Amino acid sequence: MKRSFIQRLKDVSITKKLYFTVGTMAVLIVVELLTLWFAIHTLSSVRAFVSAEGLWSKAQKDAVLHLKKYNRTHNEKDFLAFQNFMQVPLGDHKTRIELLKPEPNLDTARAGFLQGRIHPDDIDGMINLVRRFNQISYINKAIAVWTKGDSVIAQLIPLGNEIHKEISSVNPSNEKLHQLMNAIDPINEQLTLLEDDFSYTLGEGSRWLENIILKLLFAVALTVEITGLLITISVSRSITKGLNEIRRATTKVAEGDMTARAKVFSNDEIGEVAITMNKMTAQLIESNKELGQFAYIASHDLQEPLRSISNYADLFQKEYKGKLDENSDRYLSAILKSTARMQLLIKDMLDYSRLGHDHQLCKLDCNQLVQEVLQEMNLLIEETKTKLIIDELPVMDCYNELKLVFQNLISNAIKFRKPDTQPIITISVKKDDSTFTFSVKDNGIGIEKNYYERIFVIFQRLHNQKEFPGSGIGLAHCKKIIEMHGGEIWVESEPGRGSTFYFTIPIT
Ligand code: ADP
Repeated sequence: MKRSFIQRLKDVSITKKLYFTVGTMAVLIVVELLTLWFAIHTLSSVRAFVSAEGLWSKAQKDAVLHLKKYNRTHNEKDFLAFQNFMQVPLGDHKTRIELLKPEPNLDTARAGFLQGRIHPDDIDGMINLVRRFNQISYINKAIAVWTKGDSVIAQLIPLGNEIHKEISSVNPSNEKLHQLMNAIDPINEQLTLLEDDFSYTLGEGSRWLENIILKLLFAVALTVEITGLLITISVSRSITKGLNEIRRATTKVAEGDMTARAKVFSNDEIGEVAITMNKMTAQLIESNKELGQFAYIASHDLQEPLRSISNYADLFQKEYKGKLDENSDRYLSAILKSTARMQLLIKDMLDYSRLGHDHQLCKLDCNQLVQEVLQEMNLLIEETKTKLIIDELPVMDCYNELKLVFQNLISNAIKFRKPDTQPIITISVKKDDSTFTFSVKDNGIGIEKNYYERIFVIFQRLHNQKEFPGSGIGLAHCKKIIEMHGGEIWVESEPGRGSTFYFTIPIT
């Protein structure tokens, strides 16, 4: 069967899932850092262009200033200064021409910017800006202004040369010089306007770029956060879902519901634990069955020979009554007493191992159940002069085995009585919306707090066999029966002051 993409993701091991989460976050953070790096570089190139424009216009103004000065002083140094300042826009002009070629020579472009007095560290960024973004409207417009500026400033060179020629002539004509000088101011004014336009366009462009970059960074950061959050939530959900399912199933098994199984959601480590746990429960059921069968067969098969021993010993004692010596009679009585105890033990074991087979809920009258128990114990009750105080008990849905609970609790209440004290047993019941809580109270020898749990474990006994004979099965049996009903059993007691056994039966 073809597994879906989601299922295949779920089946990936937890280690890989965690690596994947951290790895994705790392990649996204690297992407964000690269974007940031790119943004800072681009903005710094725009800033470099703005300062280059400052150098360009300052050089242009100085060139004009020196040309005008040259006209006044006729000093050759001033004309040289004019030429010198004109190198700046000329260098930038060279770079622009080169960069707008389809395959520009970058060395030539760099040399042009160096001539334009641009800081060497800014040059590559500026070249990249022109090449990468010349399609962007702001850059495109700035380049157009720059081109126009180049063509206007170019007019200053022939003008300067003519002024120089006139001044260097034997008889410079003032009128011609005046005419030539008059042409400078309109060029200057035109250039000032273009310079403003260039700065304004770049300013607009950098604000636009800043805006885009901020949005881009915000989008990348949001993607990092959301992706990280989603991956973390989905990975941790799949882990906790699997663990919760295992906890649910193990709790049910621990409570005795051996049909509980953990759903397997994925084939990762948690899925494997769920599968193993399910196998373990199935194995436990098998072992329990085998053990129950063994206990049943063993106790059942023991009954037969034990009955023969007991019957023959009884017959023998009766037949030879008065003819046996005192020792033989005592030995026979001991045999009979032991076999009776063993029969009781085997009966308890058989009841215990049979529990859970063929039982069905039916409506039973608890008053009647208790009366039957009292009837069966009639002799013991009379012998011990036990006083019984019994509440009106309910008629309710329960298993037949509930009678055994009353039987065990009442017989223990009598058995563990205080010497020379009349046993008093009180049986009561309380009802709430969902549960009946029964209590069986005695005024017997009591139980220490440390043993409250232990007495419900099979074969655990607190008292000596001679004084209080028993199998140690009774209370374990009661616990199993009550749990079969979905209820609980516990004891509250104090040594020397009696015990109260409580058990609950949910109302169905
Ligand atoms: P047993 O066959 O010994 O009665 P149970 O499982 O019925 O076995 O009881 C376990 C042990 O719990 C008893 O051996 C006894 O030590 C203690 N016990 C049970 N019921 C009482 C009680 N009503 N008063 C004092 N001790 C009790």
